[in-house]
Amino acid sequence: MKAVQVVGYHTKLQLTEVPEPKIQGPLDVIVRIGGAGVCRTDLHILEGQWEDKSGVRLPYTIGHENAGWVHAVGDAVTNVAVGDKVILHPLITCGLCRACRFGDDVHCENSAFPGIDVDGGYAEYLRTTARSVVRIDDSLQPADVAALADAGLTAYHAVAKVATSTRPGDVCVVIGAGGLGHIGIQVLKAISAVTVVVVDRNPEAVDLAVRIGADRGIVADGTQVRQVLDLTGGHGAEAVVDFVGEGGTTREGVAMLRRAGNYYVVGYGENIDVATIDVISTEINFIGNLVGSYNDLQELMTLAAQGKVTLHTTTYPLESFQQALDDLDAGRVRGRAILVP
Ligand SMILES: [Zn+2]
Ligand SMILES: [Zn+2]
Repeated sequence: MKAVQVVGYHTKLQLTEVPEPKIQGPLDVIVRIGGAGVCRTDLHILEGQWEDKSGVRLPYTIGHENAGWVHAVGDAVTNVAVGDKVILHPLITCGLCRACRFGDDVHCENSAFPGIDVDGGYAEYLRTTARSVVRIDDSLQPADVAALADAGLTAYHAVAKVATSTRPGDVCVVIGAGGLGHIGIQVLKAISAVTVVVVDRNPEAVDLAVRIGADRGIVADGTQVRQVLDLTGGHGAEAVVDFVGEGGTTREGVAMLRRAGNYYVVGYGENIDVATIDVISTEINFIGNLVGSYNDLQELMTLAAQGKVTLHTTTYPLESFQQALDDLDAGRVRGRAILVP
C-alpha cells in the first residue's frame, strides 16, 4: 500500500510502498483511511522536536488524526464490524491500567500513539485496536471529521469541564479564536448555558467567532481585561479557556478571572507567573488539558452528527501531502487540511 513516511529529521516526507498492516492480536482493528488530518505537530515531528520524546524508529508512517472504514477485525472484536465508519481515538490504550479503568485514556501507562511512535494514518490502512474506534453516524464522512480526532477532541475535553463546573449565565472567556477555539465555542454553546466571550487579536477571527455563536467578541487591543471586567460587573469571568498560552495571554487571562474562577490551560509556550498569595486569597484554580478520552470523542461525534459542531476542511489527495504541509506551514489552509488516500 501507499504510505507517507518520516525517513529522517530536517528532511522531507517520502511516499513509499509498504506492506499492508495485518491483524496481530485478537483485539486489533485495521482501518481503511478515509481522511487523515494534517497537523502542526507533523511539522514539529519533521523539525525533530519529538525525536527524543517518542523514540520512534525511522522510517515510520506519520499522521495522528484519522478516520475511515473498518477493513478487518481480530477474533475478539465485538464493538465494530467490517465496513463500519469510524473515527480513531488518537491513542491505542491497554484497558487494564488504573488510568484506563478510570476512563482516563490519555494517561494510560501502556499506550501507543499512531503517527507519533508507531505507524499512523498518512496511508491507505492503519492498525489500531477495538478500544480506539468510535463508530460515527451515517451522515458523517471520515474526511469531514478526521481532524476532530485530535484538535477537536482537545477543545472538547477542556470546555466539557467548563460545562460541568458552571451555571447558566456564568461567563466563560475563550482566548484564541483559531481552529481549537472555534470548536470550543461551538461545543460550549451546545452543552452549556454560559455566556461565551471570545478574545482574539485578529478582528476577522473575532467576527467569525460571533457568527458561529459566541455571545460577545473582543478584539485584543490592550483593553481586553478592562472590557471583560466591565462585562462582569467588575468581578471577572467564572472560567477562562486559554487556547493560546503565549504572548502574555496568561497574565491577561488570569486578570479576567473571578474569585474562585477556573483557568483552563490548552495552548502552551509561556510560564504562568502568579503570586502564590493571589492563588490562595482568591482560590483560583489552574487546570491542564491533554487531548481527551474515548468518551469525550464519542460525545463530540454526537454533536457532529447533530450538526452542532462543524469543521471547515480542505482536502488533498494523499500524494499531495507535501503541498498540504507547505500550505499549512505558510498559513494558506482554510480550516484544516485533510489527506484522502
Ligand atoms: Zn494533531
Ligand atoms: Zn492503560
